[in-house]
Amino acid sequence: MNCILRGVRVIDPLARRDAAGQDVWLSEGRIIAIYKHMGEGTLPVIDLTPPPGGTPVILCPGFIDIHTHLREPGDEGAETIHSGSQAAAAGGFTQIVAMANTVPPIDSPDRVKEATFRAVAASVQVLTGCALTKGLKGEELVDMEACAAAGAAAFSDDGRNGFSPRLLSEAIGRAVSLGRPVMIHPEDEEVLAQVNRVQGPVQRCSLRPVEAETRAIDYALRALAHAGKGHVHLQHVSSAAGVEMIRRAKEGGANVTAEATPHHLGMWLPFATEPQPAGLLKVNPPLRTDRDREALIQGLRDGVIDTVATDHAPHRVEEKALPYDRAAPGMIGLELALAVCITLGGMSGDWIPTLVDRLTIGPYRVLGKASGIREPRLRIGEAATCVLFDPEAEWTVEPAHLRSGSQNTPLLGARLHGRVLMTLVDGALVHHDRQRLPWPASAAGTETARG
Ligand SMILES: [Zn+2]
Repeated sequence: MNCILRGVRVIDPLARRDAAGQDVWLSEGRIIAIYKHMGEGTLPVIDLTPPPGGTPVILCPGFIDIHTHLREPGDEGAETIHSGSQAAAAGGFTQIVAMANTVPPIDSPDRVKEATFRAVAASVQVLTGCALTKGLKGEELVDMEACAAAGAAAFSDDGRNGFSPRLLSEAIGRAVSLGRPVMIHPEDEEVLAQVNRVQGPVQRCSLRPVEAETRAIDYALRALAHAGKGHVHLQHVSSAAGVEMIRRAKEGGANVTAEATPHHLGMWLPFATEPQPAGLLKVNPPLRTDRDREALIQGLRDGVIDTVATDHAPHRVEEKALPYDRAAPGMIGLELALAVCITLGGMSGDWIPTLVDRLTIGPYRVLGKASGIREPRLRIGEAATCVLFDPEAEWTVEPAHLRSGSQNTPLLGARLHGRVLMTLVDGALVHHDRQRLPWPASAAGTETARG
């Protein structure tokens, strides 16, 4: 592509840049220049200038998702690295961290290497999340040093929380020299086992009270304090009480970070009819009350919550069609994240720059440079990794248009605002909404696949 995008709002949080009415000159996947007004000469111009009083489209660094489930290896019928990374590209995500709970789990240096190798040709950069404990069982730490050397970007037993505070404390201490975050799925398994009256794995149990979250957060914060150094990251916080604990811990100087998912921020059931099957609404931790949702939004706005993370969790149809108690937990999120945050998650209008922050430098800071994450920046002259989106554009969530290998979202048929028009990764065009962003023939050039 070789063209000028006219009338764009450019937001680059690390550069402290937020300027409307810009012309962006793109050539062969590079941003050649960003100016207030460019004489086009012979270049084709795609005029995106909004009508007076209208909302401009936004160009910003590509989004980062630190919490994605790709089901490869083990359940490629639900998602593959290929389909999941295409869904990421369609959602504006250019770097994602794949969780380790595949079959088998990514819990050894060899498996980290294999997983990293498998993802080399993906549409977006896929970083490898490594389990914290072998087999996600909570009994024995993985060889953290060797797994980091093999390419692990972060450590998480996501889906499980079976380790003792003592083991967690050791992990936090060991992670310091590796510069990798330890990420916690904060749902205490003792509490879950008690309220559900079960023994053994508790992933599918449907009773998941707030106490499970607050107790797990409490343990994680104690483990961090006991380690006396290091960083702990709390995944998918879901309750007002959880937000409050994190707020207090941060005020007290603890090196803790946290994420919220689009569905916990936004989904207070804007549905005309209950989604069918009911299992589509099942997610761990569960969607709670309006008060919890409002606390999460407030936390995201004021920075107690550092980042939006999708917890993209694809499942085959039959896994969600089971009776609610046995249905698989989780929903897809990569392609819906932006629109859900804008439409339902309290991040529209003046909150858009904050949302961009929480989708770019927020996750970048959680991961840290040593993880292999790349700095989210719009750099002149370099192959671009960026996203162009229209915060107002309205669209309908249609199964046929989703790129994920699964369609388990209660939002099928919903009307949402916020649409990704174009995603570039290392200069390659990995997503392009041809209807809303028609290239003039003269601008098209070659559209190359990455990798
Ligand atoms: Zn989780």
